[in-house]
Amino acid sequence: MTVPELLAPAGNPEKLETALAYGADAVYLGLGRFSLRAGSGWASLAGLAQACDLAGRYGKRLYLTLNAFLRPGEEREFSRLLTQLRPLPVDAYIVADPGALRLVREIDPDRPLHLSTQANVTGVAAAQFWQEQGVKRLNLARELTLEEIGAIRARVPVEVEVFVHGALCVAYSGRCLLSAAMTGRSANRGECAHPCRWRYAVQEETRPGEFFGIEEDARGTYLFNSRDLCLVEHLPRLIEAGVDSLKIEGRMKSRYYVAAVTRVYRAALDAWRADPAGWRVDPLWLRELATVSHRPYGSGFLFGGEGAGVQPSDSRYRQSHLFVGAVLDDGGPDGHLVEGRNRFAVGDELEVIGPAMRQGVFHLAAASNGEGAPLTVIQPNARVRLKLPAGTRAGDLLRKPRAAAADGG
Ligand code: SF4
Repeated sequence: MTVPELLAPAGNPEKLETALAYGADAVYLGLGRFSLRAGSGWASLAGLAQACDLAGRYGKRLYLTLNAFLRPGEEREFSRLLTQLRPLPVDAYIVADPGALRLVREIDPDRPLHLSTQANVTGVAAAQFWQEQGVKRLNLARELTLEEIGAIRARVPVEVEVFVHGALCVAYSGRCLLSAAMTGRSANRGECAHPCRWRYAVQEETRPGEFFGIEEDARGTYLFNSRDLCLVEHLPRLIEAGVDSLKIEGRMKSRYYVAAVTRVYRAALDAWRADPAGWRVDPLWLRELATVSHRPYGSGFLFGGEGAGVQPSDSRYRQSHLFVGAVLDDGGPDGHLVEGRNRFAVGDELEVIGPAMRQGVFHLAAASNGEGAPLTVIQPNARVRLKLPAGTRAGDLLRKPRAAAADGG
């Protein structure tokens, strides 16, 4: 058994750098067009070229999502894009549409292809079909159980990738028209407005204007809403099933999410590599995963069939900590240069986190602006100098416990 690849989202240049520094083996990202995350696209081919360079310098792999389903008239633009992309050292394209696959085969025949979860591979025959089309890796449908994942991996000579962390759709593999119907933004075109996470009420036909809340407890019930996926406690079983790549969802999520989640899964995989027989869940990993904004965690479909996997849950997001700043340099006599992300203040209890589960708690003793004038409050986006613990490095992130965060704004 080999240690699977850890695959993290890289929704923009900052998140790319973070994913690479915090332990991803590979990253995935999309351009503005033809990627099922319209809001997280990389703006230009030049930016993508720089991303490839950076991943190469880290010795990591970069995959490009081209997983939109093409409509008549889009093929020409898609083909033109493929031609422009050809010189770039992208390690694989992630596609879902057989038409897109066919065009890649014509225009860029040597490019490795991964199949997106949107293609919905749920069985051995489907996996064999895609393998015969030259697909190197399948991101299997999220609805599969551990046993089914293992069966496909054992019977088809193809790499297998599964999601291990992040949001789940209640609609089958995200094939959902709710957002398109309610907002005109189609989930199937990468524009989902997430209406499944809104609050709903029932109206009885003969009582217009009277709304009955759908509630089970004080927080209410959110009929369409699923738990978030978290499989860190089950990594050994995924490794035993032969999974080749563990994917973290979340190209639209924050840089802090990318850092915190990637480093936890990195630590869990490294612990397994060091001692597979003695591997145990470190409670610190679960505490760390609770620091990011998330809905209640679950194991999705891994241990049950349909119905067991996506349980309705309270749709409110929770997080134990607030991301307040990013460290921009290694520090000097005047302290470290920091960019604020949320408001915080001198005297606050803060935590600094870095790659390899480096972290520490401290009280912020002093802050100053670019001219050296002392500050008491640090505002979002402000660039300031802070007195941080020794050993704090560029790329480390600052966070604040949530109760204290509320006090300080
Ligand atoms: S509305 Fe909800 S279930 Fe539908 S695609 Fe969007 S996130 Fe998924």
